[in-house]
Order: sequence, then C-alpha cells, then structure tokens
Amino acid sequence: MPSYLFQSPGLATLALYATPDTLFAFDLDGTLAPIVEEYGAARVPNPVRTTLQRLVGLAKVVVITGRSRKDAQAMLGFEPHLIIGNHGAEWPPGKDSRNWQFVDCCLKWRNQLHDALFYERGIEIEFKGESISLHFRKTDDPDRALALIQAAIDQLEPSPRKIGGKYVVNVVPGEAWGKGDALAAAMERLGSSRAVYFGDDETDEEVFRLKRDDVFGVHVGKDDRTAASYYLNQQSEMLGLLNSLVGMLESQSEEANC
Ligand SMILES: [Mg+2]
Repeated sequence: MPSYLFQSPGLATLALYATPDTLFAFDLDGTLAPIVEEYGAARVPNPVRTTLQRLVGLAKVVVITGRSRKDAQAMLGFEPHLIIGNHGAEWPPGKDSRNWQFVDCCLKWRNQLHDALFYERGIEIEFKGESISLHFRKTDDPDRALALIQAAIDQLEPSPRKIGGKYVVNVVPGEAWGKGDALAAAMERLGSSRAVYFGDDETDEEVFRLKRDDVFGVHVGKDDRTAASYYLNQQSEMLGLLNSLVGMLESQSEEANC
C-alpha cells in the first residue's frame, strides 16, 4: 500500500533524493498539467512551469509522456534536459530523430482504426508518430466506446502493445520501449545515480514496477493498485511539492557556497 508523500517517512526519503545528481522525471498529463476535456487544450500552469524552470538549474529534469515529443515541447514552456515522447518509444530523444519503422507501423494501424471507428461519435483517433491514442472522454457511453475500441484493436496487424489510461487506450508497436526502459536509459545518459518519478497513469506503472532501490516512485492520485511507494492526493499538490524540492536544493547549494 502506498503512503502519502507529505508525511514522514515520505518527506524524509524525498529529502535524501534532493541532490543535484538526482534525475527528476515527470509524466505530463495529469501530473504536470491538469486533465482537461479537450486534450489539445491542456497546459502546464504558469507557477508550475516557473518552478520547473528553477529545478532545471538545480538538478536534472526529464519529461516522459505519451504525447509526441513535439507536442509536449509546445505545451511545456520550459526546457527540460530531455523530453521522451510516445510512452518511451521516441528514443533517442534527439531533435529530429524518429523511429520510422514504428511510424510506418502506426500509419497502417491508423488507416485500419479509421475504417473501424471513424463514424463512432465521441471517439477520437490521435496519430502521434510512434504510437496512437484512442480517446473516448467525449462519448455518451464510455463502456460501449471502450468495447468498440478493444474490438478494433484486436483486428490490428501486427498486434500492438496496448496501454490503458483515463478515457484513452494507446497502441504502441510491440518492440517499442516503455516508460521504464526510457527512464533507465535517461539516467544512464545523464549520469544520474538515482531518480524520482511522478506519474498518474497505467503507463507510469512500468516505472513504478522497476522496483529499483535507486528509483523513488510517486503516484499522482490515491490508488491502492499502484506499484509506487508513495502518492500525492491530487495533481494540484505538484506545485507545493516542486517548491519544496527547489527549496531543499537551493539551501544545499547555498550551504555549499558558504
Ligand atoms: Mg498522465
């Protein structure tokens, strides 16, 4: 059972991780940005963005999101050390790098999904390059929409990896990396000996299930099914958390300069 982060021993453990060589990694939607009805309208609130920018100057910051890297970059408004898109499938996270084998596979799936689902009201097919998201937040009957989506996915060739979410089902090529692989690779690339990861979705469980001693997982939202050791009650608590982290790191750097 996860424990609430803003209590001892959660805060004490977090303080141990508040060092300049720690990698602070974040999911985007539902973690840094509040969930909104129209996924294209999601934004990182200004105070969160400003605090993250300060964190970038104090430690390593990485965003690992289901959105494409380009889409995430446009909505972040600050420059983390790395942005890894498409649930980890967009690796390496270089400026112009795409995995064309995965993109070609998703293009074929998009056409098949379009044929199966285009006329279903409230279901949206979002092609993101290395993955596809099937959103059904706007439908009147979510159970029916989910059943239709599952049936359409079952027909796809080759068979994809499926990742559920909040009113969304994602399909990703079977060989593509997940968020757990991406976090481990980011730690190696940035030379970080440990990481703190915040996420709210099923796809984030791949990180929490790593169960590494050097990765501290925090689930955004109380959910007893998570493999994370700690949780925050809600997304709006992220700002206070980020401010605490920045405060701890700044006081350390002041002490070091004395
Ligand atoms: Mg999320």
